[in-house]
Amino acid sequence: MKRVYLDHNATTPLDRRVFEVMKPYLVEHYGNASSPHHYGRRAKQALEESRLTVAQAIGARPEEIVFTGGGTESDNLALRGVACAKGQGHIITSSIEHHAVVRTCAALQGKGFAVTYLPVDDQGRIDPDDLKRSIRKDTILISIMLANNETGVIEPISKLSTIARNHGIPFHCDAVQAVGKIGVDVNNLGVDLLSLSAHKLYGPKGMGALFVKEGIRLAPVITGGHHERGLRAGTENIAGAVGFACALSIATGTMDTCHTTISSLRSKLESEVLQRIEHVTIHGSQAERLPHCSSLGFAFVEAESILLHLDLRGVAASSGSACTTGEAEPSHVLTAMGVPPEIAQGTIRISLGRDTRAEEIDFTLAVLEQAIGSLRSISSRWQASGRKVS
Ligand code: PLP
Repeated sequence: MKRVYLDHNATTPLDRRVFEVMKPYLVEHYGNASSPHHYGRRAKQALEESRLTVAQAIGARPEEIVFTGGGTESDNLALRGVACAKGQGHIITSSIEHHAVVRTCAALQGKGFAVTYLPVDDQGRIDPDDLKRSIRKDTILISIMLANNETGVIEPISKLSTIARNHGIPFHCDAVQAVGKIGVDVNNLGVDLLSLSAHKLYGPKGMGALFVKEGIRLAPVITGGHHERGLRAGTENIAGAVGFACALSIATGTMDTCHTTISSLRSKLESEVLQRIEHVTIHGSQAERLPHCSSLGFAFVEAESILLHLDLRGVAASSGSACTTGEAEPSHVLTAMGVPPEIAQGTIRISLGRDTRAEEIDFTLAVLEQAIGSLRSISSRWQASGRKVS
């Protein structure tokens, strides 16, 4: 069966070039980077070269990069690290963050920290004035994502971080979905902490990094040896670091051409969906968005049923964040944007990749049109709404 993968926000395949550079560090140069002998020194050298590459890709210094086990861990280290270092206080985040941030904030609330969740407008954008109004004397951290994983909407991070800086509050940014798709420079963004993940950009899974600006005090979340400047104990994943650095170099080097091709494919997808299918909402379409991501709401059908139809025809998409798939609750992101339940429940996320082809979009459009038509023909809610299947 023909298969079309349109779930690149969930994860991406490992680039074969990345796999090739990783291989020697799994079988040949397998030393522990803490060992003083030849094998250890070889591993340490690769680790530090990778750190330099990752740092340079985001305008940071190598000492400011802490390698982690992925985006979730980076978010945890940023939030719990600042919270534990301070001991108490108030955290500001948004109502549309990834669960790695939302649930960590909830856990910190359980430990006595106060948390404010900023609202978003109907396009999923945070208003900097809301941030200004939420700041308290005891605010210890602000954490806002760069681009949303469900809608691709990009937040005004430099405006928000300027407000944080004016109040002397550290600013964390979850840039997991944005890195490798749009230019990310920690200096232009004005952030103190920034989370990255390798598997979102054709690198290995279980590998990530946290940018920690010099002078930002963090308590470690994982304790043990003195690895990663005492911020993340555990023998370093050299192959992962080498793969991450290679994937990031490829992604940043090809970003401009990929951006143009992918965004034109996304435009084709969205304009044809609107032409061919009635009552479709494109969430966040009036906002600045990542080029490859489309959140499509089909009124009066269940997202899970659409996805099943697509999967049976070989098309892989998702109903939002991969981490929330299977949950009965409507997406907290769409709810925060004020999307009515009958549209939120019928929302699917299509995320294109750098290998996505126009024929795959054509095929997906045909399958989607057919799926929505047949689901609506048996939908009592669709019939009750007085609409006819076209
Ligand atoms: N933050 C965002 C915005 C994400 O989209 C994801 C993954 O979907 C994560 C954090 C978690 O990253 P990881 O899968 O590397 O733990």
